[in-house]
This record gives sequence, structure tokens and C-alpha cells, in this order.
Amino acid sequence: MTVATVNPDGLLKGRIAVVTGASRGIGEAIAKRYAMEGAKVVVTARTVEEDEHFLPGTITNTVDAIHQAGGEALAVKADLSQPEDRQQLIEQTLDAFGAVDILVNNAAITFFIPVADFPQRRFALMMDVQVWTPFELSQLVLPGMRERGSGWILNISSHAALHPDKQEAARGSTVYGMCKAALERFTTGLAQEMYDENIAVNVISPGLVATPGVMHHKLINDTNKDNITPVEVMAEACLRLSHGDPQLLTGRIDYADAVMEEFSLQAADLI
Ligand code: NDP
Repeated sequence: MTVATVNPDGLLKGRIAVVTGASRGIGEAIAKRYAMEGAKVVVTARTVEEDEHFLPGTITNTVDAIHQAGGEALAVKADLSQPEDRQQLIEQTLDAFGAVDILVNNAAITFFIPVADFPQRRFALMMDVQVWTPFELSQLVLPGMRERGSGWILNISSHAALHPDKQEAARGSTVYGMCKAALERFTTGLAQEMYDENIAVNVISPGLVATPGVMHHKLINDTNKDNITPVEVMAEACLRLSHGDPQLLTGRIDYADAVMEEFSLQAADLI
């Protein structure tokens, strides 16, 4: 591990990044890692103060940590299930920083309920936050990226996008898998559409990371407890797909561990 500092002349110098779901977990780590490389980071989620959510983490805390380390960040409260919040997230980013170079669609709300019992209201909410939001935020940032001649869109997916490999009892991740499968197909399609525009569109899936969301859903058990991916590894892999020639790394459906190996990366400690 390296020393956790902000390098204003780092790999993302001069870039403006929007990271959704950055109040805790993987999004918080990505926001910090980008700031460490000199990006101006818009940190967005619903939770501003600790007592607003039953899980720990706020956009205020993420931004404070970045500021304390000497980085640049802005907290924008947004409930991404709300159309006006999606619009104002990008408007506030443009007002503050003038552009969006990198968009990370990381936010997710997940209910693990069997299909037979899944309420339509929750289905719609998951599709809104996990599928429509990445689609619409991409639509909102594409004009600026086209104008600037480059851009990087990164969608955070999951192994759940793949078809189950065994016919055995499972615990209701069908709708989650449907959302992530749609996100992955959106990614490869948009990557093709944007290839000539020099805009990279990629997916990274983390493996299993011990975030507040994962702990809440009790997803770590005796079978997988030795296979946890450190959040720093996920952040490092995301960084690798958020810079460089967009035409050389696009349309990829990747996993954090595989990216680390392919590019011989070491995960940096986070600020
Ligand atoms: P967490 O549940 O720990 O965090 C989810 C984030 O999404 C929070 O910042 C939350 O902020 C935000 N969010 C949820 N609903 C909304 C909403 N309506 N509007 C705005 N923001 C919202 O998730 P993880 O960090 O574990 O996961 C991050 C991503 O990685 C997700 O896409 C997940 O599917 C994926 N993933 C994670 C794995 C893991 O092992 N951790 C494995 C596979 C995939 P707030 O509540 O403040 O709004």
C-alpha cells in the first residue's frame, strides 16, 4: 500500500468526476481515490447527516475527508429515484465546476425478495435507481463530453448479472441480477455508440466488498468470508478505467481483481 495523499498533479488532474452513491461503501472509496489523483469530485447520495440513515456514512463525511487531505470535492444531495434530483445533480455540477469528464454510476438500492413476492413498487424503484438513472445521467453528461472530445462513464455492476450456474435454492437476487444485466447491456451498447466520440463506457464489478450495504444484507457467510475484496482494490480498478485513451479501454465488462492483474496495479490506501 502507498501513502494516502492528494496529488494535485495526479492522473486525474483537471478532470471533473461525478460519483453516485458516495455517502458510504464503494462510492465513497472511488470518490476519495479520484480526489487523490487531483480530480474535482462531486459526491452525491441522499444522506447528508448521520442521523438521516440507519447505515453509517454521509456525503458530508466523504467531502470533509477529501478537503482535509487537500483535495477538491462538492457534496450534492440527490435522491436518484426523483427526476428533478437527477437533473439538478448535473446542473449543480456544471454550475460549480463547468463540466463532467467522468461519471460513475455506482448508487444502488436492492431488495432481496423472491419473484413470487416482489412488489411492483420496489421493482420500479430498483429499476429507476440502478438502470434508468445511469441511462439518464449519461444522457445529461454526453453533450458536454462530446463537446470536450473525451469522457469516461463507468457503471458498477455485479456477478449477479450472470445467469446462475447451479440449479439450487437461492435467496431472491433475480431482480438485482436483472438490473445489473440491463446495466451491462446498456454499457456495451453505449460504448459502441460513443466510440467515435472518444467516450469510454465500461463496467466494473467488485467481487464481494464488506460495505455497510453488504453487512446490512448479511451477504458475508462462512462460504465466502475468505474471498472479500478490499474496497481499495475496487477503487483502484475504477481509477484505471477512468483515464487514458478512451478508445483503448471501452465496452469492457470487467471485474476489479481482473483489472488489477491485467494492469499490474497495487491498491493505494485511501485518504
Ligand atoms: P451500499 O449499500 O453500501 O451503498 C449504496 C450507495 O447508494 C449509498 O451511498 C446510498 O446512499 C446510495 N443510494 C441508494 N439509494 C439511493 C438513491 N435513491 N439516491 C441516491 N443514492 C442512493 O452499496 P455498496 O457500496 O456495497 O455497493 C455499491 C455498488 O456496488 C452498487 O451498485 C452495488 O450493486 C455494487 N456491488 C457491490 C458489491 C459489494 O460486495 N459491496 C458486490 C457487487 C456489486 P444514500 O443511502 O445516502 O442515498
